[in-house]
Amino acid sequence: MSDLTDLYQQVILDHNRRPRNRGKLPTANRVAHGDNPTCGDQCSVYIRLEGDRIAEIGFDGSGCAISQASASLMTTQLKGKTAAEAQALFDNFHHIVTTGEAPEEISDVAAFAGVHSFPARIKCATLGWHAALNALKSEPTDASTE
Ligand code: ZN
Repeated sequence: MSDLTDLYQQVILDHNRRPRNRGKLPTANRVAHGDNPTCGDQCSVYIRLEGDRIAEIGFDGSGCAISQASASLMTTQLKGKTAAEAQALFDNFHHIVTTGEAPEEISDVAAFAGVHSFPARIKCATLGWHAALNALKSEPTDASTE
């Protein structure tokens, strides 16, 4: 069990050290910003939606390790997905971080199951996901105007 905990800590450390899809996406047509004032986390999510699929996704921001690692993982999960699939993935992730019930198979999202023991950190873990879902619901933006 502690080996599994170690493995999951590695996942979070790795995403924190080498964030995936980090940086503003110049071609984005959906953008949203999220912040978590109780912890000081900030996260902007940039999405290029093609049809109803997330063709490209990026994030930037600052904050605690949980918030940044979770946003990084979120981008790897949502790329190539539709808005409906993104919502389903978030529902799954939200279930994991609020109940600690990880799926049977070892996966990167399961690394966040431990967050449920620290209710104040749930907002950290879901910040990037909320920003992504808000971006998907937002009006299309002209990437060149910002
Ligand atoms: Zn935080």
